[in-house]
Amino acid sequence: MSRWNFGHNVLVQPSVCYTPATEAEVLEILDRHRGQRIRCCGRLHSWSPVLQTEDVLLDLRELRDVRVEQHAGEPVVHVGAGCQVKRLLAELEQQQLTLPSVGFITEQSIAGAIATGTHGSGRHSLSHYVVAVRVAIDNPETGAAQICEINSGDELRAARCSLGLLGVVLSVTMQCRTPYCVEEQFREYRHVRDVLAAEDEFPLQQFYLIPWRWSCIAQHRREVDGPPTLLGVIYRWYRFLTFDVLMHWYILLLVHIIGSPAVIRFSFRRLIPALVVRNWPAVGPSSKQMVMEHELFRHGETELFVQRHRLDEAIEYVRQLITSCGEADAPVTPEFEAQIDRVNAREQWQMLRGTYCHHFPICVRKVLPDDTLISMASNIGIVASIDGGGEFHAESPAAVHAPMGPASPTEPWYAITFTNYHPRGSHLPFDQFVALLLHSMHHLFGARAHWGKLCPLPVADLTALYPEFSKFRAIVAGMNPAARFQNQWTRELLESGLREP
Ligand SMILES: Cc1cc2nc3c(=O)[nH]c(=O)nc-3n(C[C@H](O)[C@H](O)[C@H](O)COP(=O)(O)OP(=O)(O)OC[C@H]3O[C@@H](n4cnc5c(N)ncnc54)[C@H](O)[C@@H]3O)c2cc1C
Repeated sequence: MSRWNFGHNVLVQPSVCYTPATEAEVLEILDRHRGQRIRCCGRLHSWSPVLQTEDVLLDLRELRDVRVEQHAGEPVVHVGAGCQVKRLLAELEQQQLTLPSVGFITEQSIAGAIATGTHGSGRHSLSHYVVAVRVAIDNPETGAAQICEINSGDELRAARCSLGLLGVVLSVTMQCRTPYCVEEQFREYRHVRDVLAAEDEFPLQQFYLIPWRWSCIAQHRREVDGPPTLLGVIYRWYRFLTFDVLMHWYILLLVHIIGSPAVIRFSFRRLIPALVVRNWPAVGPSSKQMVMEHELFRHGETELFVQRHRLDEAIEYVRQLITSCGEADAPVTPEFEAQIDRVNAREQWQMLRGTYCHHFPICVRKVLPDDTLISMASNIGIVASIDGGGEFHAESPAAVHAPMGPASPTEPWYAITFTNYHPRGSHLPFDQFVALLLHSMHHLFGARAHWGKLCPLPVADLTALYPEFSKFRAIVAGMNPAARFQNQWTRELLESGLREP
């Protein structure tokens, strides 16, 4: 009955688990377990406590039908909650369609992916493209299970990224589009600003900050008209064999067997960047070009979202934090020390110095603002005004609790990912690094943590950066007064803002 998540850091232990095959079965289970807590799971690819289950677990993998329709002249797809993204893409391809955006991998279920605001690079998160969600909830008067379709207003914005709190998602209706091709090539840059300057030309790009070398390797990407090419197939095999397999084997060898920080640093300065073939533009279908096989090797991951105007400063902070945690005597700037003091983290930082050597490229992806209440890239509620000096000032309540700083409603977010391959049991330095990273970046840069990844912050900090969290809480309470679709962590999240004076 118990199941581990992908990262083997969360053990899901329900008292009973069901895999219903029809919507009627879901309703029957809800009625049978009236009064008990219900949580759902997708493919357990989250690392956060969002997966914890107390009583009943529903695995919706059997609800996976895919049906395309025209809606106001545009194609939309109705997809069963448990359908994996890769199956959805394959079914859409047969109908000459595809999704507007995909994440790094396609293993997730569609309901699981939208529940935590899963995103790719250069466009909105998947949640943003949801036009309706069908959920099973309890009738607030009779308590009997019923189906409800959410398709407009703030309820829809809440359902687009709901952490599983609005009820059992049965199916999702999403925008889709005609298939398109993406051209991709690698180039290396010294400075983040130079990579960002290439965004106009390559709007779908992402880049990797290479630890210890501290350059940026950009994966330039743009939509092109041309058909997929044979060269594109060869390129994808090169990318798969070199990065998804060889680079990972080498990093596992470094981390699990060699274990020398000096060899790790040398490898990132000299060897790993040498694997990158630069300036080789190759064209392939978006559903293949935009994803990698990052799920082949078990790992731990955290991800922080900062607004564009904070990115440069945040990256410099990350560089100095990683350098000083990896090398006890690495010099840091007075500005960095002042930042550490500002967040009262000197003791935490001193303890970490020389104990944690980061060993994976740090991926940075642009996410356009989402029309959601609480996905990490939501800008709703962040209202900006320009004063006489041309400065933006946030007027959102979040600015009171945590320093969102200047903001614009159209400003994109940048997701910065930190990946770790230490075997479980030797995770402590990474866990301590993540705790310091999240705490300091939250307070210094208003960084939001990915709901589905490692996020060991106090619940009040996790929710404080979402101006619309109270609206989200009210919608959850209105739809489910009995609060049965919650677990301990989500209960604390929902209660966090209420404790404030
Ligand atoms: C290797 C790897 C790569 C990743 N790459 C990316 C990436 O590129 N971008 C990104 O943003 N994230 C990424 N993630 C994170 C991942 O996309 C999210 O954590 C996602 O939520 C996992 O989907 P899942 O189907 O496994 O759902 P689960 O992890 O099983 O569940 C997630 C949440 O969804 C809820 N849920 C699931 N099904 C239902 C339902 N039917 N009704 C109600 N609630 C439901 C669960 O209760 C839970 O709260 C990655 C994760 C891994 C392991």
